[in-house]
Amino acid sequence: MVYTSTRDTKQKISSSEAIQLGISQDGGLYSPETFPKLSLDEIKSLSDLDYSGIAKKILSVYLTDFTEKELDLCVRNAYADDKFDTENKVSLSRVNQHTYFLELWHGPTCAFKDMALQLLPQLMKVSMDKIPAKDKREKIILVATSGDTGKAALEGFKDVDGMRMMVFYPEEGVSHMQKLQMITQEGNNIEVAAIKGNFDDAQTAVKILFRDEELREKLENSGKSFSSANSINWGRLAPQIVYYFAAYSEMLRDEEIELGEEINVTVPTGNFGDILAAYYAKKMGLPINKLVCASNENNVLTDFISTGIYSKNREFHQTISPSMDILISSNVERLLFELYQHDSEKISELMDQLKEHWVYQIEEQVLETLKKEFVGGFCGDVKTKETIKEIFDEYGYLCDPHTAVAASVYSEYQKESGDNHKTIIVSTANPYKFAGSVLEALGEDVPNDEFEAMKKLQKKSLVTIPEQLANLKEKPVRFSKSIDKNTIKDYIETII
Ligand SMILES: *Cc1c(COP(=O)(O)O)cnc(C)c1O
Repeated sequence: MVYTSTRDTKQKISSSEAIQLGISQDGGLYSPETFPKLSLDEIKSLSDLDYSGIAKKILSVYLTDFTEKELDLCVRNAYADDKFDTENKVSLSRVNQHTYFLELWHGPTCAFKDMALQLLPQLMKVSMDKIPAKDKREKIILVATSGDTGKAALEGFKDVDGMRMMVFYPEEGVSHMQKLQMITQEGNNIEVAAIKGNFDDAQTAVKILFRDEELREKLENSGKSFSSANSINWGRLAPQIVYYFAAYSEMLRDEEIELGEEINVTVPTGNFGDILAAYYAKKMGLPINKLVCASNENNVLTDFISTGIYSKNREFHQTISPSMDILISSNVERLLFELYQHDSEKISELMDQLKEHWVYQIEEQVLETLKKEFVGGFCGDVKTKETIKEIFDEYGYLCDPHTAVAASVYSEYQKESGDNHKTIIVSTANPYKFAGSVLEALGEDVPNDEFEAMKKLQKKSLVTIPEQLANLKEKPVRFSKSIDKNTIKDYIETII
């Protein structure tokens, strides 16, 4: 399989190179040149496999320069039984005749990011041995996080040989639980620091480091290089295709659907990675009808899907679904690359417009194609809370605010369209990661102490508190540094 840049199709590289490089020098994102197809018979045969087996099968068609043995090792390390609290690794919960929640948060940090970030370090390790010797360097992985990515990345990369990780989170932008998860992190190759400011300040500070020539030279001279662990990296996206196949085969196995029956997929969306993976699964032959893209108050994607105009020229809202508070959805670029049939000049043009004028518009005809596949919708905080309560009262099912956004958007779409396909709603975080908001949604007073809030929610819902969240109370704080964004470079230099 050959990979190419969305901004320059003359570039052709292997999957190992794509994983090692993360992002192309021209600013483009690495994408596969073609999408391998699975026949219905092949999809049916996935039903006989466990999660790791399905992962190996799907990854093997993309990571063609990995041997079977290497993939086997990567997958076994990533999806080890003791890291997940459910045997299937993901869990499908049916709440009524046509609605299923696909829970992707049974991994070590209780967020869906684990599904990819457990595997990415394994893929990085193996791919390092496949690139030219002169490019082999100790990796320093920089992460700016608004919460979930930081913890999941730390957990995935801790104590991995040949790699160090530095996570920067905004002092004012993460929940108490998310902060606790990060500052108590164990591992000998990691650093965590708060940046004074909001997420944009942290993200901008990290982006500047990536482009700092002086720093790059220093690193190279000492045999090191920077890398990234966010969803622009192909090694993080590929593992996300797997769970859509896993969910479909589970529905087949349980005779919930017939082979070939189309389902809808609804995804709470931020950076467009998770829903893009579903789109890729569809291109590979997975029977999917509509892809429903759910946003919160930051509804840039809803507008894009309805008008064809992508405009980040709007107010940024802080919501109770913070992992979706984003105005530049990086992976939309990969979608455009498909919609424009790999016309990389056109993609460069659109991305330049976004950078310079904060807006671009796609042609009517392209918009029509987009609308055939995608439905967009959004929901604000009030409606999100109402949805948490409705789903709990009606089905006894507890969901977090991100998942509730998706459930609300789907329910509106279903009412309007009368579309009765069976539907997977992707559930992206354990509700206890957002215990305060969930309690409030259920009409309860919220205790100041996060652990008291969790206990109260447990009493009310009878849902078990994940051990790894409850245990945080006893864990010593290892990282308490808070740095100014202007001194982040000095900080890095003292460490490396
Ligand atoms: C990251 C995240 C999302 C958004 O996923 P994207 O791939 O960025 O679209 C949704 N919900 C939660 C809980 C997340 O952590």
